[in-house]
Amino acid sequence: MPSRFVIGVDIGGTKLAGGVVDQDLRVHQRVQRSMDGKDTATLLETMQEAVQELVNDAPGEVEAVGFGIPSLIDRRTGTSVVAINLPLDHLPFAALMSERLGMPVAVDNDGNVAVLAEHRAGAAVGARDVVMLTIGTGIGGGLILDGELYRGSIGSAAELGHMVIAIDGPPCQGNCPNNGCLETMASGTALTREAHRVASEQQDSRLGHALRDGRALDGALVTELAHDGDPAAAEVLELIAHRLGVALSSYVNIFNPEVIVLGGGVMAAGEMLLEPARLEVSRRALPPSRDNVRIVRAHFGSEAGMIGAAALAFDALQNQTPGGVL
Ligand SMILES: [Zn+2]
Repeated sequence: MPSRFVIGVDIGGTKLAGGVVDQDLRVHQRVQRSMDGKDTATLLETMQEAVQELVNDAPGEVEAVGFGIPSLIDRRTGTSVVAINLPLDHLPFAALMSERLGMPVAVDNDGNVAVLAEHRAGAAVGARDVVMLTIGTGIGGGLILDGELYRGSIGSAAELGHMVIAIDGPPCQGNCPNNGCLETMASGTALTREAHRVASEQQDSRLGHALRDGRALDGALVTELAHDGDPAAAEVLELIAHRLGVALSSYVNIFNPEVIVLGGGVMAAGEMLLEPARLEVSRRALPPSRDNVRIVRAHFGSEAGMIGAAALAFDALQNQTPGGVL
């Protein structure tokens, strides 16, 4: 059977990553663009131009384009309702891009496309019930329930990062009105905040020295120092892992997933986060669910969004939604 091709585009707060993807979800050509500080018109222009470049370079005809964007999407209309970090609010995104590109366009939230990629070709292949968290600056969520992407009544479900784990915790990020959400307790932003606190409390630690030297106390540095045996850095990771484990215990009780997939930049810490998080789940979640869940790192790194967006485009082609807008 000859290969079929679509384009998957992952739109982040700072950059666009796109690729030509075949039906086995292998990536062929790739493009990247900066999205930093652009207005709506320039953003749309950049997306169109990046897709055009991929269409020209593709090894065959491109049949559709899928987008994963950091926004709540109203699936009934393909409208981006509330975008995080990008000026895409209240935009009929799918219709607009379809008109510009002259081909069918599918769009979904970045957390949903990430879990789709892991379910189709990554760490959750073959599982019927999957919970995924993408842990970066914020915490995105995705759910596969009974083999299908779960989107909720209007498509804005699976905001798993906005589950409260500390009712009197710090205010949440962005436009979330809540306090003590997992996102504000265990994201990369939270990790940096806790790293600063621990560094000032333990100034003789390597983490403390890093703060004094003016280095950025981000996930990468804390992971590196913990890996080298700095107890202060290890303490920060353990705290974040403990909080993650508290949240995962609730997801285990609510969804009884076969597998929980953890992705995003913070998961570069790997087992240093996974192991204490698993331990927390074994202490807190209910049997028998807790004994039947695998908690694993995502298979796809920075290309999860692109690959999931491509899977979305293939799904949409199969469903043959009329009118070009999927
Ligand atoms: Zn929140």
